[in-house]
Amino acid sequence: MKTIRKIILTSFARLATAVAFAAKPIPGPKGGKIVTAEAPHVEFFVEKDRSVIVSFYDKDMKPVTPAGQVVSAVAEAKTGKVTLAFTAKDGALVSTAPLPEGDGYRVVVQVRDTAEARPKNYRVEFHEEVCGECKRAEYACICDEAGGDKHDH
Ligand SMILES: [Zn+2]
Repeated sequence: MKTIRKIILTSFARLATAVAFAAKPIPGPKGGKIVTAEAPHVEFFVEKDRSVIVSFYDKDMKPVTPAGQVVSAVAEAKTGKVTLAFTAKDGALVSTAPLPEGDGYRVVVQVRDTAEARPKNYRVEFHEEVCGECKRAEYACICDEAGGDKHDH
């Protein structure tokens, strides 16, 4: 009986480790945020001109050209909500308008695998300042949140 209990506890510990590992943020290849936990991955990246680029990747983080996906985004800026439409450009989907001014607001990215598919919503807290640790924009920061005190936000 004792042995069985031990085995169960061990597999639980393994499971916990696997989950913790999976939750670690994946660095977006363009410098953006990977909003998905599982492939196909979706990257939210804000260009210098503040247009949003949504890119797709397979499980090995190889770029996948969008094929019929429909993306829209709602920027919940302090000045009011702005809905962004996206068009295909250079193997990704790019917003037709820039993000509203300022930062510190939420952007909800809505991805449909096809025009008829149910939308999947991904929330991004848009902060454009650069993280001192990973040197990525704050919204795309990949620092381990579990590190806690070594991070000042
Ligand atoms: Zn960071």
